Amino acid sequence: MDYQDFFRGAVDSLKAERRYRVFAELERRAGEFPHATWHSPEGPRDVVIWCSNDYLGMGQHPDVVAAMIETASRMGTGAGGTRNISGTNHPLVMLEAELADLHGKEAGLVFTSGYVSNQTGISTIAKLMPDCLILSDSLNHNSMIEGVKQAGCEKKVFRHNDMEHLEDLLKAAGKDRPKLVVFESVYSMDGDVGKIREICDLAEKHWAMTYIDEVHAVGMYGPRGAGIAERDGQMHRIDVIEGTLAKAFGCLGGYITSTAAVVDAVRSHAAGFIFTTALPPAICAAATASIRHLKTSSTERQGQQAQAARAKAVLSAAGLPVMPTDTHIVPVLVGDAEKCKATTDMLLAEHGIYIQPINYPTVPVGTERLRITPSPFHNDALIDELATALVAVWKKLGLPLNRTAIAAE
Ligand code: PMP
Repeated sequence: MDYQDFFRGAVDSLKAERRYRVFAELERRAGEFPHATWHSPEGPRDVVIWCSNDYLGMGQHPDVVAAMIETASRMGTGAGGTRNISGTNHPLVMLEAELADLHGKEAGLVFTSGYVSNQTGISTIAKLMPDCLILSDSLNHNSMIEGVKQAGCEKKVFRHNDMEHLEDLLKAAGKDRPKLVVFESVYSMDGDVGKIREICDLAEKHWAMTYIDEVHAVGMYGPRGAGIAERDGQMHRIDVIEGTLAKAFGCLGGYITSTAAVVDAVRSHAAGFIFTTALPPAICAAATASIRHLKTSSTERQGQQAQAARAKAVLSAAGLPVMPTDTHIVPVLVGDAEKCKATTDMLLAEHGIYIQPINYPTVPVGTERLRITPSPFHNDALIDELATALVAVWKKLGLPLNRTAIAAE
C-alpha cells in the first residue's frame, strides 16, 4: 500500500470533476492597489487585481499600515497565548469595545477569522439553548453551515429569502421552543441582500432569536459602515451581528457582537475561542484604525459604489452577461466550468487582469461566473480596459454577447 496514492487519488478526482484549484501567487504593493505583482511560472508580471475582498483598499491605507507597524514595534508580533492564558492584549480589548460601539451592542468578541466566528458562534449559541431549532437560509455560507452542523441540534433550511417558508417553519416549531434564525445581509456570490426587516418581523412575532452574517457589508454600508442592518435601521432588532475584519477593514479576524449575556456565555463555552491563540496586538490595532476611519469617512464606500455602478453599466453596454445585483458585487455569467477557467487564464496571460474563476461547489453547476469586485481605486480607465479585455476573451472563446445591448449603445 502506498499511502500517497490516497492523496493523489483525492486530487485526481477533483481534476476529473474540473474542480481542481490553482492559486495565483501575488505580491500586493502597498499604495499601488489594485496593481500587484504576479509571480507567474515565467517570472514576475504586473497585474490588476479585480477580485479582492479588500473592497475599499483599507489593507493599504496609511493609517492602518502605520497602526500595525507602530504596535508591532512597541508590543512585538504574537499575542503569546490563548485569551485565558496571557493572550488578552490591550489592543484586542480596545478592538472589542470598538466593535460593540459600531453595532450598538453591549459587547463584542473577536475570533481568529470570520469563518471561526460563524462556526463557533452559531454552534455555541445554539448549544446553550435546550432543544434549540436552527432555521438557516439555503444560501448561507459554508462557515454557517458548519456552525449549524456542529451545534448538533435540529435544523431546518428555509428557501433563500422565502418569508412564507420561514414563517411556516417558525409556526410549526411553536412559541415555547428556542429558535435561532441564521442568515446573511449581502450574499456574496449573487450579490443580493437578505430580507432583514421581514426576518426581524417574523422573529419578533414567533419569539425567535436572530443571527446575521454581515461579512460582506461591514465597512461598506450604513452611515458609520456598520453594514446593511445599520443602513436599513434594523441593527437594534438583531440579536447577534457577526462580521469580519478581513474584507472591507483590510486586516484579519472575525467577531460577534451582542448582549453582554450572550458574549459572556460564548466566551466561556466556545472551544473555538478558548483553545486557540489570540489575535496579535498589531492586527487588532490596525483593525481598530480601519474601523475608526470608516466610521467617520464615507468617501471610500461612496467611491466604491460609484465604480461598481460604472463597471456594471460599462460591461452591460459592451454586451457582457452581468448578473443583476443590489450590491457592490459584479458577477458576470459564464455558465461552464472549463470556459470559466479559460476566461480567467486568458485575462491573466494576455491582458494582465487577475479574476479568479468561481466554479462549483461555490456556485451551482451551470452558473459558473467571474465575480468582479471594483474598489474606489479601479478608475474609469481601468474599467474600460476590463470591458475591452473581457469582450476580446468572450469572442475568442465563442461565448455569447448581447447584441441588443451593443447596438443600443
Ligand atoms: N461569511 C461569509 C458570508 C463569507 O463569504 C466568508 C469568507 N469568504 C466568511 C464568513 C469567512 O470570513 P473570513 O474570511 O474572515 O474567515
